[in-house]
Amino acid sequence: MPHELAVFLGVKRSQADAILIALDSAGLCNMRLLIFHTCSEAHIGSIDFGVGFPSLPWKCSECDQIIEDYAEMSFDLMALVPEPVEFI
Ligand SMILES: [Zn+2]
Repeated sequence: MPHELAVFLGVKRSQADAILIALDSAGLCNMRLLIFHTCSEAHIGSIDFGVGFPSLPWKCSECDQIIEDYAEMSFDLMALVPEPVEFI
């Protein structure tokens, strides 16, 4: 998660986002956009980063509500790394 990278590297969250987006662009990780609904602290879905926001309406997997307004959603980034990254 970007906030963990920011803490680890001692940089701002926006800088950690930029690092991960650069790694994604280079094919070194796969960025996902995590989707949250106001009903839960757990994410309710994810889509590939870079394809925009999810199409509405979106059915919440936690409460089954049909979401028709982005104001009911929040988002975060997650980086999936296919192979362990080794810092030398
Ligand atoms: Zn929900």
